[in-house]
Amino acid sequence: MHDLLIRNATLPDGRSGLDVLVLDGRIVAVEPNIQASPQLPVHDAQGWLLSPPFVDAHFHMDATLSYGLPRVNASGTLLEGIGLWGELKPLLTPEALVERALAYCDWAVAKGLLAIRTHVDVCDDRLMAVQALLQVREQVRPYIDLQLVAFPQDGVLRAPNALANLERALDLGVDVVGGIPHFERTMADGAESVRVLCEIAADRGLRVDMHCDESDDPMSRHIETLAFHAHRLGLQGRVTGSHLTSMHSMDNYYVSKLLPLIAEAGVHAVANPLINITLQGRHDTYPKRRGMTRVPELMAAGVNVGFGHDCVMDPWYSLGSGDMLEVAAMGLHVAQMTSQAGMQACFDAVTVNSARILGLEGYGLAPGCRGDFVLLQARTPVEALRLRAHRLLVVRGGAVLAESAPVRSLLQLPGRPPEVDWTLAR
Ligand SMILES: [Zn+2]
Repeated sequence: MHDLLIRNATLPDGRSGLDVLVLDGRIVAVEPNIQASPQLPVHDAQGWLLSPPFVDAHFHMDATLSYGLPRVNASGTLLEGIGLWGELKPLLTPEALVERALAYCDWAVAKGLLAIRTHVDVCDDRLMAVQALLQVREQVRPYIDLQLVAFPQDGVLRAPNALANLERALDLGVDVVGGIPHFERTMADGAESVRVLCEIAADRGLRVDMHCDESDDPMSRHIETLAFHAHRLGLQGRVTGSHLTSMHSMDNYYVSKLLPLIAEAGVHAVANPLINITLQGRHDTYPKRRGMTRVPELMAAGVNVGFGHDCVMDPWYSLGSGDMLEVAAMGLHVAQMTSQAGMQACFDAVTVNSARILGLEGYGLAPGCRGDFVLLQARTPVEALRLRAHRLLVVRGGAVLAESAPVRSLLQLPGRPPEVDWTLAR
């Protein structure tokens, strides 16, 4: 592990002029004017924003960077994406899976994204993607916390062998139990899948993260069942409902009953703004629903909400670069969270809130936390969102993983500094 001293940083809570001392991979002090040995590597933050690293609470690393294989999603719908993934699966090789995942991890590190929860499809009897991502998890462990979710893409009750494959994947060391109740054959099967999967998680002492109600159907109410079983089995704080897009279309009276149940059960919520705004509402003419879950209302009810990237260049989404500031910016637009407090909450959704969902140990910028952070060319979290701020430095355990210089202008206009100053408001 490494030692490093950061001079003159501003933190997301607004404190400024602080030094951060990392010894042996851990933060040991956060205070002004730290005295340290002259041998210690020093980086001058010049007052820029030092944030804990970005955390992606929901991703699909087995499908990433496969855009166009074997063809492009013509309708742009979730269901064609699932069908297309089914066409692609027999063509996958372990080598190609690993290569694409590692390529994405490179992108992630460069963007200061150092923790990712990725779902991995367990419906293939060979468990090829599981084996590949277990290998990737070990390869990137010094750089990225990669958490794997056993995800029965075709339905744990609907697809042959899916339940047995899911248990095999957990035996191999996959971290979290996944599910997709709205894709089971019936509402009853969906509810039954939630019960079965939550009991597996409780028996094994694992967390749960289900694709839940990723639909425009206001009657898709599996989140209610998920909250019920989380509460019944004592899994508070260890269960996540991902997507929850049907909540966008639900009756307001029903939602007023549902929100306290989710909060009581300690169930986390994950919205995937880039994907929800793209895939949902595809069966509407006009007006077209936005399809993202009720983020500000969930937060106001006391539910911890994180944001996920979900997809990057795959059967469901043709864009993306691992930039969680892009995710958060889309989230605040779709949810109309444009107040200062709302934008700050969206920054939290790609940092601290998602870290809680993953249960990351030692996350943060306090003494005792791991020496993991990203230096952003912005003065505040809101400014970082506005600018999709440049990552000046990415650090893991006190070791510098990526760095870049601020952009310089060659115009040399009179009275202007050589470095482009995006922060005129300060
Ligand atoms: Zn997903």
